[in-house]
Amino acid sequence: MSITPLMPVYPRCGVRPVRGEHCHLIDEDGTRYLDFASGIAVNLLGHSHEGLISAIQEQAATLMHVSNLYGSPQGEKLAQKLVDNTFADTVFFTNSGAEAVETAIKTARAYHQNAGDEGDKDKYELITFANAFHGRTMATISASNQTKMHHGFSPMLEGFKYAEFDDLESAKALMGPNTAGFLVEPIQGEGGIRPASQEFMQGLRALADEHDLMLVLDEVQCGVARTGTLYAYEQYGITPDIVATAKGIGGGFPFGACLATEKAARGMTFGTHGSTYGGNPLAMAAGCAVMDAVANEEFLASVREKGDRLRTRLEQFIGNYPELFELVRGKGLMLGIKMKVESRPFFVHLRDHHQLLTVAAGDNTLRVLPPLVIGDAEIEEFFEKLSAGAASYKIPEPA
Ligand SMILES: *Cc1c(COP(=O)(O)O)cnc(C)c1O
Repeated sequence: MSITPLMPVYPRCGVRPVRGEHCHLIDEDGTRYLDFASGIAVNLLGHSHEGLISAIQEQAATLMHVSNLYGSPQGEKLAQKLVDNTFADTVFFTNSGAEAVETAIKTARAYHQNAGDEGDKDKYELITFANAFHGRTMATISASNQTKMHHGFSPMLEGFKYAEFDDLESAKALMGPNTAGFLVEPIQGEGGIRPASQEFMQGLRALADEHDLMLVLDEVQCGVARTGTLYAYEQYGITPDIVATAKGIGGGFPFGACLATEKAARGMTFGTHGSTYGGNPLAMAAGCAVMDAVANEEFLASVREKGDRLRTRLEQFIGNYPELFELVRGKGLMLGIKMKVESRPFFVHLRDHHQLLTVAAGDNTLRVLPPLVIGDAEIEEFFEKLSAGAASYKIPEPA
């Protein structure tokens, strides 16, 4: 047998972290890495955060799991915090980002199809956008035009049409009698930290209002304080109908949520949806600890301030290496450095030779996603490593 016990779907690298300390990861052999990847925008309180640990420890010792057949004081508490701090009136908890998007897709379809006696079964199509990433389940890969994720998993699910990202006319051209709504990342993450424009997001909102469609946002990566507001939509001056959230929401504890207005959730009635683990007390305890830490103006202002500082310095820095770097984009502490050369080998170089963890993304972009609790020391260390990395980098010869 040559297959590995872990199904070999990830090209895993040689870094094998066994411990986390604030903004650093420590490898099996003791090597320390500066973690500006945060488990891909997950560990927003860094590693071994005391408040988060004790919330999880206490809940684990009290009640870890019960069925959704019972009342959930723990779920009600976190749902209320999300309702109080966002556009949402109601919340469904999931175990991952893809499931949060799945729930969002079902909610958008059910809005039309389960609207009492008036249900319109023909409304099922969501218009999505080129180079989107919504997860790895059948519905969420079907929602993306990235055929590399479709390969070997045919047939795709029906009901998705792909428009150009940040191009309102292209979205408009795909609208028809089957359109149920739009599904969009306000800032594409995997696609290369590409923020949608104000006009585009407001244009989608206007189209949705005009045609009674659902505006569904995938904020799995950009949500939960990452961009300097609790959710990114706040910076676009719009109110969504449905939002999928996950990654940062548990600070490392795996869970997600689908947020919706009362109107948008009208089709999600008794028996229409469910999850065995979704919203279990342990996840809810982690979520409450994260919300208590981040959902306040002081914390959000600190993310904006550090994001601005990091970005300004990055913009100055890339000027020293015009052959490597093109520009910096993103919002808050969700930043991307678009490179003029392939970004992946440079990301590997930073990791293997300078112990700096970042994340590669589409469009030759290097993602800079530090824990939101970084301080001056981590920012200094980041620039030391990045400068040394750029200075020692030899652009690989094309194969
Ligand atoms: C990571 C991600 C997902 C999928 O989340 P999982 O927890 O991996 O299922 C969906 N949408 C976006 C925008 C993401 O970044």
